Amino acid sequence: MTETVISDNLAFTDLGLAPELLRALTESGYTKPTPIQAQAIPVSLAGGDLMAGAQTGTGKTAAFALPLLQKLLPLANSSTSPAKHPVRALILTPTRELAIQVEESVKTYAKHTQLRSLVVFGGVDIKTQTPHLKTGVEVLVATPGRLLDHIEQKTLQLNQVQILVLDEADRMLDMGFMPDLKRILALLPKQRQNLMFSATFSNEIKKLADEFLTKPQLIEVARSNATNDNVTQKVYEVAQSDKEALLTQLLKEADASQVIIFTKTKITASRLSRSLAREGIAADAIHGDKSQQERIKALDAFKAGTISALVATDVAARGLDISELPMVINYEIPSAPEDYVHRIGRTGRAGALGIAISFVSPEENKYIVEIEKLIKRQIPKETVTLEKTSTRTRASSPKESSYKTNSTQDASATKRAPAKKKSSDPWFDKPYEASTSAKNTVATTKQIISSKAPVAALLGGLRTNK
Ligand code: AMP
Repeated sequence: MTETVISDNLAFTDLGLAPELLRALTESGYTKPTPIQAQAIPVSLAGGDLMAGAQTGTGKTAAFALPLLQKLLPLANSSTSPAKHPVRALILTPTRELAIQVEESVKTYAKHTQLRSLVVFGGVDIKTQTPHLKTGVEVLVATPGRLLDHIEQKTLQLNQVQILVLDEADRMLDMGFMPDLKRILALLPKQRQNLMFSATFSNEIKKLADEFLTKPQLIEVARSNATNDNVTQKVYEVAQSDKEALLTQLLKEADASQVIIFTKTKITASRLSRSLAREGIAADAIHGDKSQQERIKALDAFKAGTISALVATDVAARGLDISELPMVINYEIPSAPEDYVHRIGRTGRAGALGIAISFVSPEENKYIVEIEKLIKRQIPKETVTLEKTSTRTRASSPKESSYKTNSTQDASATKRAPAKKKSSDPWFDKPYEASTSAKNTVATTKQIISSKAPVAALLGGLRTNK
């Protein structure tokens, strides 16, 4: 798999991009196109429809945004008349967070042009978006529902759209946007270019492509449903009841500046972020029950480093792009294996290295089997046992706590002497180093569990906090 590797022998200048765009890329620190960019940009510039299989972190946003801006450049103008700035490119995304990020990227790439962009999404007062729409924008990024609201309120016309982008099309289908998509597509001019991006190529996606695309060129930069090679994956087999203690310990020991923790439910996400906060870990949660303002606030705080642990449900975290995110923890394993791929795609983006740890209870083993089938690889496993041998009083004595780890890779590792200090744990000290071997990782878990407060004491402490 070469997906996240930046192409060696191709420069952005070879793609025939305009100087205004090249300048913005240089300022963004991009030196070379990623494989999806190298393949998709020429096809898009040539004007054909495109169906691209690319997972998150591959640089897919620039792969559609750059050619789109290039094609609209001749129409860029400084007129103050809204009529001179009709919507010419429409980018649809499944979630508000992704919409915001895509539009931020478009703005960055377009900063030396006179092209205007705007993002509209639900969950905020529609009236705040209307005046901006009325001034006229060439590139509109939208979630389907809110776009339809604007169309109904007649604050928006789509009859000049030349380019349509469906980003994360698979997730749009998963989220039930098909009827909305059909309504929107019926309002667009028949003559247009369609660019569809999807992390997976399911039969439903192929059907969608048949329906909406005209003779699309198929680009797949990696095997569908593959996971990044630069993400080190790891399973910790742990009882459900021990997960919280393990997480707390891991976060304290890892000293990880930015970790996303995935849960299956909104309730667990909220509860967990509160528990972590009580343990002194700067944490917040994002999920569907939070208002848009709350979600943006949490995300901004996470990006700024004010909070270090972001607990998220799958839908809320979809499309998040946090640069250099070193670690993802699956606190609960998703029942849909594709969600695992999406989750761990939050780390190891654009060539960086990352770590994805999954806490797997015996009941969740069946999901791991499905995940391994999908990603066509085995994830190294290790059993973590937090022994609650004592009462709370006994647990307060460090000597009486105990832990046990058993690895399916290297049982002898459990006999090694535990590390005394955090700094002796090379794995977490250097999260960006090349992929850790299973053997080393086994030792690491033991160090994580053993090097801090005794586990029984830890569990006692957590119990009192509940
Ligand atoms: P995406 O897959 O579009 O969400 O992009 C993932 C990350 O890669 C974003 O933070 C982009 O800014 C970054 N990125 C995209 N293209 C390049 C490139 N050619 N060189 C370096 N970073 C890039």
